[in-house]
Amino acid sequence: LKKEKESSKLEDAKLIGITVDKAKDFSSWYSQVVVKGELLDYYDVSGCYILRPNSYSVWEQIQDWFNIEIKKLGVQNSYFPMFVSSRVLEKEKDHIEGFAPEVAWVTRAGSSELEEHIAIRPTSETVMYPYYAKWIRSHRDLPLKLNQWNSVVRWEFKHPQPFLRTREFLWQEGHTAHLTKEEAATEVRQILDLYARIYEELLAVPVVKGKKTENEKFAGGDYTTTVEGFIGATGRGIQGATSHHLGQNFSKMFNISVENPEGNDKPRVFAYQNSWGLSTRVLGVMVMTHSDNKGLVLPPRVAQTQAVVIPVGITKNSTDEDRKAINDGASEIESRLKQVGVRAIGDYRDIYTPGWKFAEWELKGVPLRLEFGPKDLAQGQVVAVRRDDGSKYVVKLTELETRIPEILEEEQAGLLEKARKDFDTHRVVVEDWKDFVPTLNAKNVILSPWCGVPECEDDIKDSSAKKDNGEDEEVDEKAPSMGAKSLCIPDQQPTLKPGQKCIKCDRDAVTYCMFGRSY
Ligand code: AMP
Repeated sequence: LKKEKESSKLEDAKLIGITVDKAKDFSSWYSQVVVKGELLDYYDVSGCYILRPNSYSVWEQIQDWFNIEIKKLGVQNSYFPMFVSSRVLEKEKDHIEGFAPEVAWVTRAGSSELEEHIAIRPTSETVMYPYYAKWIRSHRDLPLKLNQWNSVVRWEFKHPQPFLRTREFLWQEGHTAHLTKEEAATEVRQILDLYARIYEELLAVPVVKGKKTENEKFAGGDYTTTVEGFIGATGRGIQGATSHHLGQNFSKMFNISVENPEGNDKPRVFAYQNSWGLSTRVLGVMVMTHSDNKGLVLPPRVAQTQAVVIPVGITKNSTDEDRKAINDGASEIESRLKQVGVRAIGDYRDIYTPGWKFAEWELKGVPLRLEFGPKDLAQGQVVAVRRDDGSKYVVKLTELETRIPEILEEEQAGLLEKARKDFDTHRVVVEDWKDFVPTLNAKNVILSPWCGVPECEDDIKDSSAKKDNGEDEEVDEKAPSMGAKSLCIPDQQPTLKPGQKCIKCDRDAVTYCMFGRSY
């Protein structure tokens, strides 16, 4: 009796689920989902967040997968310090110009002012390259391919967003040096493909591969390739991850050079370099794409827990024997699944009702719920319910080890397919400027013929940010009329018609470019 009273008290307290609608108030919905889904917690330094096991485990899945793939390419992991002297940081002019406003500095130790202020890396080109110059003595030392898993600090003043834009974030940064431009260029693309696969194969998030425009490329680099995602709920694009070709800009600054193995006209050649990074932003994109008003939806391949077994149908009238049989059966299912590598847990707490537990595991995004009750016991089956669309499967216990992994894979594929459909229908070709802003306002990103001129891109941004009355909109990221940026020049291009003009100006178009409001 005492137990029942306690349980009804808990029922009264009710699980505090998501209380806002994704479609109505996206930004409160997102904060609730990430906090209540126990992915992260807010911290008392603005723009910094705590990654809890539910999200860190997804990051670990990504690390495990990516480490295997980059090692196949001959990349080795290493670790460099987080501090960089101002002298070294400022060596590459364009680079520091791009990053200066966001660099955090250590100016004091205890109560004494430091003689030389020390920066915290916003990225590690300048940290690493003096040592590349030291280590690369001969063309036989090339290629040098190092990666590190670390955190960087960018004191961003734009509105911080959990995962998407944080002041300290985790990422991997790869830095490679090559003898030839061709070899470097090949690697830029190989890495970009891996990034696309992390999004699509692990996180079930579709991306568009392409190249950044001159305005949007990495500070100090030659060109930047990118995978771009799309957040359907807001109709905004998001830069997914970037793979940069740095050319010889840094190698000239840092003197990373070798004797030319080929020629005598040029006795020394400067190395061709790449850098590439993918951050914990990916977690935010995953959450925004799949989660719903019940909470998180985690893709099975990366979910810390893939299936939760919950005993059901135990009532006040159940005998101790019934209870035991059900609980034992559920626990047997759990251990059989674990043996075949399914990340399963059982929820045998008897102070909560099954309904309460369902809601809790839905909030936390577990991809599959397995209900096991008296009927299932009698018929040698278990009922599996998918988190993403609620579809139910009756699984014979004799087929448990094959069917559950199959259903998880079906769910993984279903998530990607749904998200892809969404991105595909909201990536709209616009060839007439008058349709540009209305199409943006209808929560789309846009593919338009474009001249490729940086000033024209600025003009597109300004013109698409203006209110109907012609006044400039405040530069508020949240405002629906924020201007459209170029997201990328997609690899897959519609064919340009002969004589096709730029969407905005009188020049001829040279390419299709993807534009959108973005994060
Ligand atoms: P970048 O070095 O600027 O090309 O950035 C590499 C990747 O890190 C980008 O593609 C973003 O996905 C990610 N990123 C950049 N800034 C942030 C930030 N403030 N918070 C989280 N991720 C970021």
